Amino acid sequence: MEYCPRQVLEVSIEFNAKGYHPPRVAQPERCVHCGFCQMICPEFAIWTTLQGEKAPVPEIKNKA
Ligand code: SF4
Repeated sequence: MEYCPRQVLEVSIEFNAKGYHPPRVAQPERCVHCGFCQMICPEFAIWTTLQGEKAPVPEIKNKA
């Protein structure tokens, strides 16, 4: 969140399944789609899309 040059993200009050406070999109209108947040996220949990664009669905491979 500190890497966002436009202060779009903030720490949410909720906990995720791993016990972290995930980032929350507080000011989406300020996003300039620079991609810093998705480059720096260690869990690859953040990605950006343009308005109207469908969010990518991660592929889950079965090991069976
Ligand atoms: S793409 Fe990410 S880092 Fe860049 S302005 Fe938007 S929220 Fe902030």
